Amino acid sequence: MTTLLQVRDLSKSFGGVRAVDGINFDLHEGELLALIGPNGAGKSTTFNMVGGQLQASGGSVKLGGQELVGMKPRDIWRMGVGRTFQIAATFASLTVVENVQMALLSHQGRTFGLWKPAASQFRDQALTLLEQVGMRPQADRPCSELAYGDVKRVELAMGLANDPKLLLMDEPTAGMAPKERNDLMALTKRLVIERKMAVLFTEHSMDVVFAYADRMIVLARGRLIAEGSAQEIRNHPKVQEVYFGSGKTFEKEQQKAEATA
Ligand code: ADP
Ligand code: MG
Repeated sequence: MTTLLQVRDLSKSFGGVRAVDGINFDLHEGELLALIGPNGAGKSTTFNMVGGQLQASGGSVKLGGQELVGMKPRDIWRMGVGRTFQIAATFASLTVVENVQMALLSHQGRTFGLWKPAASQFRDQALTLLEQVGMRPQADRPCSELAYGDVKRVELAMGLANDPKLLLMDEPTAGMAPKERNDLMALTKRLVIERKMAVLFTEHSMDVVFAYADRMIVLARGRLIAEGSAQEIRNHPKVQEVYFGSGKTFEKEQQKAEATA
């Protein structure tokens, strides 16, 4: 098992608030690691420090031994840390394949002004990525016409444009129905295996986390309170405490959520 990412004593303060408070974890090659925790636990802040969108207040993030803290987001991206972004409304009128071509152009350091002449050059590569997420047949439709779950697949293809060693997915299934959620995570799992990449993701549905994550880490109020397999996390007293208070379990809460969905 080769360690890809090493996070040590990573911290972020906003004014007096320690949003992330000295966390440590490793991520291995080929691993699908879930970062879970209640709202405000510090999950997005952690993602944004790994991706470079936020400057850490302290600590270290190493990818294959190289320090990422202090690097610009673009340079971190070029080193092989990908992330899925929502397709901006302004690009929804572009076709599926054009959106992926944009992501590929961006990897080449090309700007929007060079887009037209380069378009044909990246089309084949874009179609290959779309094939991998099952969206090849819809390549020439505008993104605005797609079903929500299909938009998420396109966003995943765009996240693969820099051929990432590590893909960051912050709430990739937000707003999706249970079936779509499962489909997207099953696809992600397949890509992890096929591309031998690692994924760090956050997810609200514990069903999905328990079904697809190889391992999970749990944040609460900026601190890492537990780490382990689905079984270990499910039965972890501290985890149940921060999620539900005493006496409740993931299963009961999941049933309630499904009933009200
Ligand atoms: P999560 O993604 O787990 O819901 P976040 O990382 O978004 O949590 O937030 C962690 C804490 O940091 C919260 O208390 C939040 O209010 C605070 N926070 C996040 N971003 C900022 C910011 N840009 N400025 C001030 N406080 C922030
Ligand atoms: Mg968040």
